[in-house]
Amino acid sequence: MKSAFIAGITGQDGSYLAKHLLTLGYNVYGSTRGVRSSNTNNLKNLNILDKVNLTTLSLYDSKELSDLLLKINPDEIYNFSAQSSVGRSFNYPDETHKSIVNTTKLFLETIKALNLATRYYNACSSECFGDTGHKGANEHTPFNPKSPYGFAKAEAYKLVKEYRESYGIFAVSGILFNHESPIRPSIYVTQKILDNAIKISKGSNKKLELGNLDIKRDWGWAPEYIEAIQKIVNHNNPEDFVIGTGQSYSLREFVKTVFKKLGLDCEEHVIVNKDFFRESEIMVSMASPQKAEEVLGWKAKYQMDDVIDFLLKSRLEQELQ
Ligand code: NAP
Repeated sequence: MKSAFIAGITGQDGSYLAKHLLTLGYNVYGSTRGVRSSNTNNLKNLNILDKVNLTTLSLYDSKELSDLLLKINPDEIYNFSAQSSVGRSFNYPDETHKSIVNTTKLFLETIKALNLATRYYNACSSECFGDTGHKGANEHTPFNPKSPYGFAKAEAYKLVKEYRESYGIFAVSGILFNHESPIRPSIYVTQKILDNAIKISKGSNKKLELGNLDIKRDWGWAPEYIEAIQKIVNHNNPEDFVIGTGQSYSLREFVKTVFKKLGLDCEEHVIVNKDFFRESEIMVSMASPQKAEEVLGWKAKYQMDDVIDFLLKSRLEQELQ
């Protein structure tokens, strides 16, 4: 039986990956910065809280991490733990940097010092590319981040590459574009749009205020991106992969589609608020994910329209419960 350790198991990707690995027969360990009832909701909702070994762990404490890794000796380590919001990173650049770069360094140093044969996965982000244009970004596209989050993810990516090339550690990065699910926290714009559109469909008169509607993003479905992550780690060679749908849609199209599916015209309910514009906004973010298809046999099945259908279906089901 294979074993995996997931740092940040309580988040969106951590909990979906835990479920996927359990289905594949893995023994799953995971860490959180603090076990509170609120942050185990995702694991509870996926019915796996009692099937994973959950530990409280500081990812800034080398001894705590070494002791744990020596004890469980995992075949695979997935590090999802991070301040993961781009918007929040402008207000909390230090916390963002520390939670991404320091934890990555600690994992790599610990694997090296203990000479562990484990495989290490780094949760890299499309934010490293900055604007991709409509050609899309692949594994050879240079990084040009525009946020403290993007800068931190780019630094973590370089560390992973360095430890792989200099010390022979099986350490890889998945460079993932935005992926959504019903368990994404409400601070993200997609969840804010859904929350408000549903309230408006039930009679609320409150206008939905959004920032720049012209930005374009490559939105995918988180549960299928998790399958790509497991394939990246289980590929014969330690290599980095770009994961996305290869299609990009504007935030305006996202909003219009959500409102239309609820029988509403977004023009009547949405206002643009310049206060929500970022100082440095990525206008177009799109993946060119051919390598994942050719090498891993992974291709996104779902596009933005499907993702919206899934999100709305889940909200409506929750309300019936
Ligand atoms: P998430 O839901 O925010 O989960 C991340 C987890 O990290 C949280 O549940 C939290 O767990 C922990 N954490 C550690 N330090 C934190 C801090 N300072 N502030 C807040 N939480 C902190 O993120 P996700 O969407 O699953 O993404 C997983 C990883 O993939 C992240 O590294 C993210 O940056 C990266 N990524 C995500 C996307 C996406 O579209 N979702 C795209 C590309 C890359 P505890 O509170 O239990 O410690």
